[in-house]
Amino acid sequence: MTRKPFLILSAFAALMIVTALVFAQQAKPQPNKEVFSPVPTVVTPGRTNAEPPSDAIVLFNGKNLDQWVEAKDDSPAKWDVHDGIVTVNKAAGSIQTKHTFRDYQLHIEWKVPTDITGSGQHRGNSGVFLATYGPQEKGIGYELQVLDSYNNKTYVNGQAGAIYLQSPPLVNANRKPGEWQTYDVAWTAPTFNSDGSLKTPAYVTVFFNGILVQNHFAVHGTTDTPIARYLKYDRSPIKLQAHGDPSQPISYRNIWARELP
Ligand code: MG
Repeated sequence: MTRKPFLILSAFAALMIVTALVFAQQAKPQPNKEVFSPVPTVVTPGRTNAEPPSDAIVLFNGKNLDQWVEAKDDSPAKWDVHDGIVTVNKAAGSIQTKHTFRDYQLHIEWKVPTDITGSGQHRGNSGVFLATYGPQEKGIGYELQVLDSYNNKTYVNGQAGAIYLQSPPLVNANRKPGEWQTYDVAWTAPTFNSDGSLKTPAYVTVFFNGILVQNHFAVHGTTDTPIARYLKYDRSPIKLQAHGDPSQPISYRNIWARELP
Protein backbone atom coordinates (compact mmCIF):
# COMPACT_ATOMS: atom_id res chain seq x y z
CA MET A 1 0.00 0.00 0.00
CA THR A 2 1.30 3.45 -0.88
CA ARG A 3 1.59 6.00 1.92
CA LYS A 4 -1.33 8.30 0.96
CA PRO A 5 -4.19 5.72 0.98
CA PHE A 6 -2.74 4.31 4.21
CA LEU A 7 -2.94 7.73 5.88
CA ILE A 8 -6.51 8.30 4.68
CA LEU A 9 -7.50 4.85 5.92
CA SER A 10 -5.87 5.46 9.34
CA ALA A 11 -7.62 8.84 9.72
CA PHE A 12 -10.94 7.23 8.79
CA ALA A 13 -10.42 4.43 11.35
CA ALA A 14 -9.54 6.95 14.07
CA LEU A 15 -12.67 8.95 13.26
CA MET A 16 -14.82 5.80 13.48
CA ILE A 17 -13.32 4.93 16.90
CA VAL A 18 -13.96 8.44 18.29
CA THR A 19 -17.53 8.42 16.94
CA ALA A 20 -18.16 4.98 18.50
CA LEU A 21 -16.82 6.19 21.86
CA VAL A 22 -19.02 9.30 21.83
CA PHE A 23 -22.12 7.22 21.00
CA ALA A 24 -21.20 4.62 23.64
CA GLN A 25 -21.08 7.39 26.26
CA GLN A 26 -24.39 8.92 25.18
CA ALA A 27 -26.14 5.58 25.02
CA LYS A 28 -25.05 4.42 28.50
CA PRO A 29 -28.33 3.45 30.15
CA GLN A 30 -29.25 5.19 33.42
CA PRO A 31 -31.43 3.01 35.65
CA ASN A 32 -34.52 4.43 37.36
CA LYS A 33 -34.57 2.73 40.75
CA GLU A 34 -35.36 3.36 44.42
CA VAL A 35 -32.40 4.60 46.52
CA PHE A 36 -32.46 4.69 50.35
CA SER A 37 -29.15 6.30 51.28
CA PRO A 38 -27.57 8.68 51.98
CA VAL A 39 -30.62 10.23 53.65
CA PRO A 40 -30.74 14.04 53.12
CA THR A 41 -29.90 16.03 56.26
CA VAL A 42 -32.88 17.60 58.04
CA VAL A 43 -32.82 21.42 57.74
CA THR A 44 -35.45 23.53 59.47
CA PRO A 45 -36.56 26.35 57.19
CA GLY A 46 -37.03 29.89 58.50
CA ARG A 47 -40.63 31.05 58.99
CA THR A 48 -40.29 32.94 55.72
CA ASN A 49 -37.99 32.21 52.79
CA ALA A 50 -35.95 35.26 53.81
CA GLU A 51 -35.23 34.00 57.34
CA PRO A 52 -32.07 31.90 57.63
CA PRO A 53 -32.69 28.14 57.81
CA SER A 54 -31.11 26.08 60.59
CA ASP A 55 -27.90 25.26 58.69
CA ALA A 56 -27.18 28.80 57.44
CA ILE A 57 -24.06 30.78 58.23
CA VAL A 58 -25.46 34.15 59.28
CA LEU A 59 -23.16 36.77 57.77
CA PHE A 60 -25.09 39.86 58.88
CA ASN A 61 -27.93 39.82 61.41
CA GLY A 62 -28.38 43.57 61.81
CA LYS A 63 -26.14 43.94 64.85
CA ASN A 64 -22.47 44.03 63.85
CA LEU A 65 -19.91 43.26 61.15
CA ASP A 66 -18.07 40.57 63.13
CA GLN A 67 -18.20 38.29 60.07
CA TRP A 68 -16.58 40.90 57.77
CA VAL A 69 -13.23 42.58 57.12
CA GLU A 70 -12.04 45.35 54.82
CA ALA A 71 -11.11 43.66 51.53
CA LYS A 72 -7.99 45.80 51.05
CA ASP A 73 -6.18 44.86 54.26
CA ASP A 74 -8.25 42.44 56.38
CA SER A 75 -8.78 45.14 59.04
CA PRO A 76 -12.20 45.27 60.80
CA ALA A 77 -14.99 46.25 58.39
CA LYS A 78 -15.82 49.96 58.66
CA TRP A 79 -19.23 50.15 57.02
CA ASP A 80 -21.99 51.91 58.97
CA VAL A 81 -24.27 49.58 61.00
CA HIS A 82 -27.48 51.30 62.15
CA ASP A 83 -31.16 50.38 62.62
CA GLY A 84 -30.50 46.71 61.77
CA ILE A 85 -28.96 47.49 58.39
CA VAL A 86 -25.48 48.21 57.06
CA THR A 87 -24.71 51.09 54.72
CA VAL A 88 -21.76 51.15 52.33
CA ASN A 89 -18.83 53.32 53.44
CA LYS A 90 -17.34 54.35 50.12
CA ALA A 91 -14.31 55.98 51.68
CA ALA A 92 -13.39 52.82 53.60
CA GLY A 93 -13.68 50.42 50.63
CA SER A 94 -15.17 47.04 49.83
CA ILE A 95 -15.73 44.47 52.57
CA GLN A 96 -15.56 40.69 52.45
CA THR A 97 -16.53 37.74 54.62
CA LYS A 98 -14.05 36.15 56.99
CA HIS A 99 -15.59 32.81 56.09
CA THR A 100 -14.54 31.31 52.76
CA PHE A 101 -16.82 29.31 50.48
CA ARG A 102 -16.75 26.87 47.59
CA ASP A 103 -20.26 25.98 46.41
CA TYR A 104 -22.96 27.85 48.27
CA GLN A 105 -26.43 29.36 48.43
CA LEU A 106 -26.60 33.06 49.35
CA HIS A 107 -29.47 35.27 50.48
CA ILE A 108 -28.85 39.02 50.60
CA GLU A 109 -31.17 42.06 50.69
CA TRP A 110 -30.31 45.54 49.45
CA LYS A 111 -31.95 48.94 49.20
CA VAL A 112 -31.26 52.00 47.10
CA PRO A 113 -31.98 55.22 49.04
CA THR A 114 -35.19 57.04 48.11
CA ASP A 115 -33.28 60.23 47.32
CA ILE A 116 -30.83 58.52 44.95
CA THR A 117 -29.35 60.75 42.26
CA GLY A 118 -27.23 60.17 39.17
CA SER A 119 -27.72 57.96 36.12
CA GLY A 120 -26.30 54.93 34.38
CA GLN A 121 -23.56 53.24 36.39
CA HIS A 122 -23.48 56.27 38.72
CA ARG A 123 -26.77 55.51 40.48
CA GLY A 124 -26.54 53.21 43.51
CA ASN A 125 -23.68 51.11 42.14
CA SER A 126 -22.47 48.30 44.37
CA GLY A 127 -22.06 44.59 43.76
CA VAL A 128 -21.85 41.13 45.20
CA PHE A 129 -18.57 39.46 44.28
CA LEU A 130 -19.48 35.78 44.34
CA ALA A 131 -15.79 34.92 44.57
CA THR A 132 -12.84 37.26 44.85
CA TYR A 133 -9.08 37.17 44.99
CA GLY A 134 -8.37 39.49 47.88
CA PRO A 135 -5.90 42.34 48.21
CA GLN A 136 -3.19 40.86 45.98
CA GLU A 137 -5.65 40.85 43.05
CA LYS A 138 -7.43 44.05 44.03
CA GLY A 139 -10.92 44.17 42.62
CA ILE A 140 -10.66 40.93 40.68
CA GLY A 141 -13.58 38.53 40.97
CA TYR A 142 -16.99 37.54 39.67
CA GLU A 143 -19.57 40.29 40.18
CA LEU A 144 -23.33 40.08 40.42
CA GLN A 145 -24.23 43.72 39.77
CA VAL A 146 -26.13 45.86 42.27
CA LEU A 147 -27.47 49.12 40.82
CA ASP A 148 -30.67 51.15 40.76
CA SER A 149 -32.12 49.79 37.52
CA TYR A 150 -35.75 50.64 38.31
CA ASN A 151 -35.88 53.41 35.76
CA ASN A 152 -32.27 53.94 34.80
CA LYS A 153 -30.78 53.16 31.41
CA THR A 154 -27.36 51.58 31.11
CA TYR A 155 -25.77 48.75 29.14
CA VAL A 156 -27.96 45.69 29.74
CA ASN A 157 -25.16 43.49 31.04
CA GLY A 158 -24.36 46.19 33.60
CA GLN A 159 -27.83 46.54 35.15
CA ALA A 160 -28.98 45.01 38.44
CA GLY A 161 -29.16 41.22 38.22
CA ALA A 162 -26.46 41.04 35.53
CA ILE A 163 -23.30 39.02 35.80
CA TYR A 164 -21.27 42.10 35.07
CA LEU A 165 -20.27 42.52 31.40
CA GLN A 166 -21.24 38.91 30.67
CA SER A 167 -24.90 38.09 31.14
CA PRO A 168 -27.87 40.50 31.30
CA PRO A 169 -30.72 39.47 33.62
CA LEU A 170 -33.51 37.52 31.91
CA VAL A 171 -35.95 40.26 33.01
CA ASN A 172 -35.82 43.57 34.88
CA ALA A 173 -37.21 42.65 38.33
CA ASN A 174 -36.25 45.88 40.12
CA ARG A 175 -38.28 47.46 42.88
CA LYS A 176 -38.36 51.23 43.39
CA PRO A 177 -35.63 53.04 45.31
CA GLY A 178 -36.50 52.93 49.02
CA GLU A 179 -37.87 49.37 48.82
CA TRP A 180 -35.91 46.31 49.97
CA GLN A 181 -34.88 43.88 47.23
CA THR A 182 -33.56 40.32 47.46
CA TYR A 183 -30.99 38.22 45.68
CA ASP A 184 -31.04 34.46 46.17
CA VAL A 185 -28.00 32.94 44.52
CA ALA A 186 -26.63 29.46 43.87
CA TRP A 187 -22.89 29.52 43.10
CA THR A 188 -21.02 26.50 41.80
CA ALA A 189 -17.32 27.21 42.01
CA PRO A 190 -15.09 26.60 38.99
CA THR A 191 -12.78 23.60 39.10
CA PHE A 192 -9.19 23.53 37.90
CA ASN A 193 -6.64 21.01 36.65
CA SER A 194 -3.41 20.62 38.60
CA ASP A 195 -1.60 22.90 36.12
CA GLY A 196 -4.08 25.72 36.95
CA SER A 197 -6.01 25.45 33.70
CA LEU A 198 -9.81 25.47 33.86
CA LYS A 199 -11.59 22.13 34.16
CA THR A 200 -15.20 23.32 34.59
CA PRO A 201 -16.49 26.92 34.68
CA ALA A 202 -18.39 28.52 37.55
CA TYR A 203 -22.17 28.30 37.24
CA VAL A 204 -24.55 30.84 38.75
CA THR A 205 -28.31 30.93 39.23
CA VAL A 206 -29.94 34.09 40.59
CA PHE A 207 -33.46 34.89 41.75
CA PHE A 208 -34.04 38.67 41.98
CA ASN A 209 -37.04 39.52 44.18
CA GLY A 210 -38.06 35.88 43.71
CA ILE A 211 -37.82 36.04 39.90
CA LEU A 212 -35.31 33.96 37.95
CA VAL A 213 -32.82 36.29 36.24
CA GLN A 214 -29.75 34.04 35.79
CA ASN A 215 -30.42 30.40 34.94
CA HIS A 216 -27.33 28.24 35.50
CA PHE A 217 -25.18 30.69 33.54
CA ALA A 218 -21.69 29.39 32.78
CA VAL A 219 -19.47 32.29 33.87
CA HIS A 220 -16.78 33.29 31.33
CA GLY A 221 -14.25 34.22 34.00
CA THR A 222 -13.52 37.30 36.08
CA THR A 223 -15.90 40.15 35.29
CA ASP A 224 -13.72 43.20 35.87
CA THR A 225 -10.89 42.64 33.46
CA PRO A 226 -10.97 43.54 29.74
CA ILE A 227 -10.81 39.85 28.87
CA ALA A 228 -12.60 37.37 31.14
CA ARG A 229 -10.14 34.90 32.61
CA TYR A 230 -10.08 32.27 35.29
CA LEU A 231 -7.61 32.31 38.16
CA LYS A 232 -7.27 29.15 40.19
CA TYR A 233 -8.82 29.19 43.65
CA ASP A 234 -10.17 26.66 46.08
CA ARG A 235 -12.24 28.66 48.59
CA SER A 236 -13.09 32.36 48.52
CA PRO A 237 -14.74 35.07 50.60
CA ILE A 238 -17.87 36.81 49.35
CA LYS A 239 -17.22 40.53 48.78
CA LEU A 240 -19.53 43.55 48.77
CA GLN A 241 -18.43 46.40 46.57
CA ALA A 242 -17.84 49.99 47.63
CA HIS A 243 -18.12 51.55 44.17
CA GLY A 244 -16.58 54.95 43.59
CA ASP A 245 -19.63 56.49 41.93
CA PRO A 246 -20.72 59.81 43.50
CA SER A 247 -24.33 58.78 44.30
CA GLN A 248 -25.67 58.11 47.81
CA PRO A 249 -24.52 54.80 49.31
CA ILE A 250 -26.91 51.84 49.31
CA SER A 251 -27.65 49.55 52.28
CA TYR A 252 -27.73 45.80 52.91
CA ARG A 253 -29.46 43.60 55.50
CA ASN A 254 -30.25 39.96 56.31
CA ILE A 255 -27.26 38.25 54.71
CA TRP A 256 -26.81 34.50 55.08
CA ALA A 257 -25.28 31.61 53.17
CA ARG A 258 -25.39 27.82 53.15
CA GLU A 259 -22.43 25.70 52.18
CA LEU A 260 -23.37 23.11 49.57
CA PRO A 261 -21.88 19.62 49.66
MG1 MG B 1 -20.95 47.22 40.74
